[in-house]
Amino acid sequence: MKNISVIGSGTMGNGIAHVFAQHGYEVSLIDIKQELLGKAMTTITKNLDRQVSKELISEEGKTAALARIHTFTELEPGVKSADLVVEAATETMEIKLDLFRQLDQYSPKEAILASNTSSISITRIASVTHRPEQVIGMHFMNPVPVMRLVEVIRGYATSDEVTDKIMELSVKLSKDPVEVNDYPGFVANRILMPMINEAIYSLYEGVAGVQEIDTVMKLGMAHPMGPLQLADFIGLDVCLSILKVLHEGFGNPKYAPCPLLVNMVQAGYKGVKSAEGFYKYIPGSKDSVVSPRFSK
Ligand code: NAD
Repeated sequence: MKNISVIGSGTMGNGIAHVFAQHGYEVSLIDIKQELLGKAMTTITKNLDRQVSKELISEEGKTAALARIHTFTELEPGVKSADLVVEAATETMEIKLDLFRQLDQYSPKEAILASNTSSISITRIASVTHRPEQVIGMHFMNPVPVMRLVEVIRGYATSDEVTDKIMELSVKLSKDPVEVNDYPGFVANRILMPMINEAIYSLYEGVAGVQEIDTVMKLGMAHPMGPLQLADFIGLDVCLSILKVLHEGFGNPKYAPCPLLVNMVQAGYKGVKSAEGFYKYIPGSKDSVVSPRFSK
């Protein structure tokens, strides 16, 4: 594999493009607007600079990685010579299905089509293509250049050969891939989201405050970040939509999203991205305080 096309240049897409380019692959980065691509290239440059200052890569390595990333606002030219496409576009079913229909049409017949989806069924995505055995989940974690895990998700029809290729490729990116099957939430979010939901229920029912809940999990369970802080970081809207996928997919009430989470998302309190969730964030700074809504 040499040519990788990455669809979507947001939080995940720019990280995925960065990691492939850093490891010597030619990357076509595709988004719907040039200004989004410009923003992504600024982020990638900043993140590569950080790696240079930590002596993880050389200045020449950074320049070479940047030169390997080519940007496109049209799908067809961006995927026409792809060996692998990694789709990291917005997490909605219609966008993903529409994209995979087009990817199937425009990318070479032997190309593997991967999705970085957090929760949408790989089997469902594969069903709109003529190559379901070549469709797979390649679920990177945020921030991509830092986090080592890649959850490799086999759809119902994904072939052994394609799974092996993606596992090997992930190792070449200095990641630790784990193979899982395609059921709602896969493994990562099936376990993480009920924990976050339970933390929100604990707050909602007055068992303890924001800081107390996060401290118990940080100091007691050696988690680097408490579940409420992590929920803010992931985005409360994203947490809610993944819980809905689990709830609908399994039909089990244990996955029902906490009403407090539903209210917060409806009111626009989505965590870091909206500057307030369980914590309040000072724009341009890493500092945060418990949201006044939850402080005693
Ligand atoms: P984001 O909103 O930051 O970026 C999505 C990008 O996709 C945007 O720039 C948008 O313009 C672009 N896009 C939308 N439709 C497109 C199209 N038709 N063609 C090309 N580009 C298009 O989202 P994100 O957080 O980077 O998430 C992307 C994917 O990664 C989602 O499937 C999400 O579930 C998954 N994911 C996210 C995280 C996370 O922590 N944010 C972690 C793991 C996986």
